[in-house]
Amino acid sequence: MDNGFYNGLERKNLIFNWHDIEEQGFYHSNGNYESGCTTVPAEDIENKHAIVIGSGIAGLAAACFLVRDAKMPGKNITVYEARSVSGGSCDGMFIPGKGYVISGGREMDDHFECMWDLFKDIPSCDDKNVSILDAYKRLNEADPNFSNCRVSEKRGQNAAPDKKFNMSDKAQMEVLKVMLMKNDDLYGKSIDQFFTDETFNSNFWYYFKTMFAFKNEHSALEVKLYLQRFIHHLEGFTDLSSLRFCKYNNYDSIILPMENWLKDHGVNFVYHAMVTNVLFTKEGNKKTATKVEVTIEGKETSVDIDENTFVFFTNGSNTANIKLGDHHTAPEWDTSVYGSWKTWQNIAKQDPSFGNPDELLADPEITQWESATLTTMDNEILKYITNITGRDPRDGKVVTGGIVTIKDSGWVMSWTINRQKHFLDQDTEKNTIVWIYGLYTSNVGNYVKKRMRDCTGEEIAKEWLYHIGCPIEKIDELAAKGCNCIPCMMPRVTTYFVSRSKGTYPEVVPAGVTNFAFLGNHANVERDCSFTTEKSIRSAMMAVYKFAKVNRAIPEVYGSIYDIRWVLKAFVDMRDGKPLNDTKMFEVPSFLEKPVAMGQKLLLDKVILPAVDKTDIGVLLRRLKVFDFSGVKTK
Ligand SMILES: Cc1cc2nc3c(=O)[nH]c(=O)nc-3n(C[C@H](O)[C@H](O)[C@H](O)COP(=O)(O)OP(=O)(O)OC[C@H]3O[C@@H](n4cnc5c(N)ncnc54)[C@H](O)[C@@H]3O)c2cc1C
Repeated sequence: MDNGFYNGLERKNLIFNWHDIEEQGFYHSNGNYESGCTTVPAEDIENKHAIVIGSGIAGLAAACFLVRDAKMPGKNITVYEARSVSGGSCDGMFIPGKGYVISGGREMDDHFECMWDLFKDIPSCDDKNVSILDAYKRLNEADPNFSNCRVSEKRGQNAAPDKKFNMSDKAQMEVLKVMLMKNDDLYGKSIDQFFTDETFNSNFWYYFKTMFAFKNEHSALEVKLYLQRFIHHLEGFTDLSSLRFCKYNNYDSIILPMENWLKDHGVNFVYHAMVTNVLFTKEGNKKTATKVEVTIEGKETSVDIDENTFVFFTNGSNTANIKLGDHHTAPEWDTSVYGSWKTWQNIAKQDPSFGNPDELLADPEITQWESATLTTMDNEILKYITNITGRDPRDGKVVTGGIVTIKDSGWVMSWTINRQKHFLDQDTEKNTIVWIYGLYTSNVGNYVKKRMRDCTGEEIAKEWLYHIGCPIEKIDELAAKGCNCIPCMMPRVTTYFVSRSKGTYPEVVPAGVTNFAFLGNHANVERDCSFTTEKSIRSAMMAVYKFAKVNRAIPEVYGSIYDIRWVLKAFVDMRDGKPLNDTKMFEVPSFLEKPVAMGQKLLLDKVILPAVDKTDIGVLLRRLKVFDFSGVKTK
């Protein structure tokens, strides 16, 4: 940054970004000038090195940005991964003796800007000449995602065929208020401090909470961030037409192609390598990582480093502590602190700006839920699935189109079937893979009178078969012989949604730190929201661009909340398409309601709407059907 210039751009032309440049050392853009450019090698990059701790999507993305944008030689990068495979939460595996397992699937959208920026350059798994982005786009164009039944009840009946939110004016105001509150006023607060039953009982909240796995006691701040981040998707919440999915499970479609691309560029991967601590030295405000302690295949060792080695650490995994059961065994409940969380604790002890993992670990009851991967082996089950989805899973196309939530399920169970095959070696004539999740694992089931967390895979299969309308007399036999179900208990899956205090998440690069970054969903990224693959990738891009001073802007978080067209559309969507004319604008005693409503109508029809109708605002309001102009005479 010299004389008010940064990368040849003048301060006055970077008005919203100057703060980023001054505070963080990178800047954002949303245009082709920046996104289309090819970066030049970062200064002295051939003499710099990188240690990436964790090969989830965040760690892999950091290595990719180092190679692609900073032009660091791949051989200078070492990735330490505690497990035997990469991917972290983005998993997908066949475990001999158990079966197919995915802890979850990923809903994605068109505006995961950093993700698509990267995936345009990573070859896809099916064809090395086609990028992940192109493969994904072509697939979703040819076979768009939407749900025929977003919510079911009464054992397989569509519970919301009208696709309405059914929000009262009061509920709309509650949601609007949270959406517009300042972050500082939401730290440490839960959503039930702001929403009343008026909102909690609306279809809107039902769609919202089950789509993202929110509970009423979760963070109000995170709900606000989601509302702002995905305001352009509001209408799509009712049928999930806003979502996109990969062709196969996330490991095969995303992780393996990234890993292969990195290995082709010479990046070193060390598995069974648990980094237990990173030690820092401090000089004044300057903090530098100087030693990485790592246990490889059970053997403790350490690596001395200096400012020329950048370290990237994914702090706190939401799939840490996951325990798998099997068809005949319930999963264990394990809340011991180890792995990424223990390492973060060790690092956090060294400086207050390194965050506070203990706040997120305090109450596993708030952060847990359970999933299950069910493989059906009996075609009779497909009949019940098709009755709900209107689609045969064997067609190879969209099936459920995102989750189907069972409204009258004690466990608040949702289930989904992605395009089959979901695994490269899966025989779709014999197997269909279903992913199930229960938000409230301490509740008792409707058919199986047990808490979900105490259930074997077979019992979870029974409960699911019951809710999809399988005849009662067939449930037990089909669950025993026609399914193989692997439960997956995840005690830390929503640590992202704990109503956290300010400072609990460290900055991606905390102030004064010269060579160490926190990556992933427990790092602070302005405006982006947690529990997304995009946030992990964005944090990686921020860290790499800062350390290597990459001469390119980071794509800004999609700005739909600042786009008046999306905001107006969201108002109408929230009201199930009703124009705003008769919204209660003023709170008045009931005896005054009628005259005030009449006054409001007169004011709108005679004064406000005729005036705006002469302007471009009127064009917009008409096009988006924000107001009903039928009573308006425009001269
Ligand atoms: C069930 C479920 C559903 C989800 N749904 C969606 C969705 O619909 N859309 C979406 O965008 N996102 C979704 N997510 C979230 C998304 O998958 C995660 O936020 C993202 O994958 C996290 O990636 P990460 O690399 O930041 O961390 P992780 O995936 O947690 O990876 C961290 C990796 O680092 C390793 N590691 C950590 N510490 C150490 C250490 N000290 N030494 C060595 N290795 C270490 C771990 O073993 C792990 O491999 C979902 C997640 C889950 C679990």
